[in-house]
Amino acid sequence: MSALSPYDLSLPELQALLEGWGEPPFRARQVWEWLYVHLADDWEQMTNLPRTLRERLAAHLPLVSPRVLATQVSSDGLTRKDLLQLADGETIETVLMRYERRRTACISTQVGCPIGCLFCATGQAGFRRNLSAGEIVAQAIHFARILRAEGDTPTDRPLSNVVLMGMGEPLLNYPATLEAIRRLSDPQGFRLGQRHITLSTVGIVPEIDRLAEETSPSGGPLQITLAISLHAATDELRNRLVPINRRYGLDALFAACRRYVNRTGRRISFEWVLIAGVNDSPAQAGALADRLQGLTAHVNLIPLNPTPAYEGKPPSRPAIAAFTDVLERRGIPFTVRLRRGIEIQAGCGQLRGRRA
Ligand code: SAH
Ligand code: SF4
Repeated sequence: MSALSPYDLSLPELQALLEGWGEPPFRARQVWEWLYVHLADDWEQMTNLPRTLRERLAAHLPLVSPRVLATQVSSDGLTRKDLLQLADGETIETVLMRYERRRTACISTQVGCPIGCLFCATGQAGFRRNLSAGEIVAQAIHFARILRAEGDTPTDRPLSNVVLMGMGEPLLNYPATLEAIRRLSDPQGFRLGQRHITLSTVGIVPEIDRLAEETSPSGGPLQITLAISLHAATDELRNRLVPINRRYGLDALFAACRRYVNRTGRRISFEWVLIAGVNDSPAQAGALADRLQGLTAHVNLIPLNPTPAYEGKPPSRPAIAAFTDVLERRGIPFTVRLRRGIEIQAGCGQLRGRRA
């Protein structure tokens, strides 16, 4: 079993450890700030801790940067994808996207994914294990350190946004995902506003309800953005593309979405990977508009990033226009996502797939 990293500990766990070593109560907060505010990557940098404590911490909780096995940078230099090796040798992908003043980390929550959406490279490769909260958080810290070292922090934060849209299904790794969200948004730690965090799910209905009931330290509901990977507006089509739909069909999913919006007051994003001749018809767009009636929602249309094990292709421009015309006429807000990063296999799971 590999040694724990300090990112595997919550603040109460760190407090208990340090108090057990006879340290005064304020020590844990000092260490916490070094880890999450100053983004220290070596215990020796924590100069306000006694040397003996730094040595003891280094021996118990090695503070090492994740090992980067491969990096790909898009030709415009704005998107970077890293293949990271975890302590047990498993690998995950994590992506940094720079867009105007935004610096967004797209992070993974599982090694692989058990859902098996047809078009997804992660799903095609199967499931290995859940990530710990520390392994999820460490991906954001990784890019925050890089941006700070580059001096590329246009906002006052080292990272401006985090999207849980990398490998894996976050709501099938619920406790670690929630702990990671709390950790990243901790006002005394990494301090990322919850409105700058997006959780993307394929639609695990009971867990959407569970998420709606979570509260912030301020007492209100979580303020994160929920994104639902929809891809089809009829059960017949969605059953084929997204196998979990046979368990949680569209009626149940949309009922949960309505409960989520009512409870949290937050708008939901719907992700729709456009696949030529499969789900890009005006009829599907119409069915989508029907489903979204009366729901505060936004649709993100993402032309398919081709993957080796799926024969689908992204639609032509006129096909995309025919689809968006319907949404426009029906007053559904949408964005067509730029295909930045396609040449670096920025589709989820694709860098890892290439090396396997
Ligand atoms: N499991 C979660 C989060 C990870 S997938 C989910 O499904 O929402 C993140 C997003 O990437 C999803 O919307 C997914 O549909 C999309 N995606 C997966 N494979 C893709 C591909 N080949 N091209 C474009 N988008 C893809
Ligand atoms: Fe899993 Fe999301 Fe990929 Fe589907 S799209 S296989 S849920 S990671």
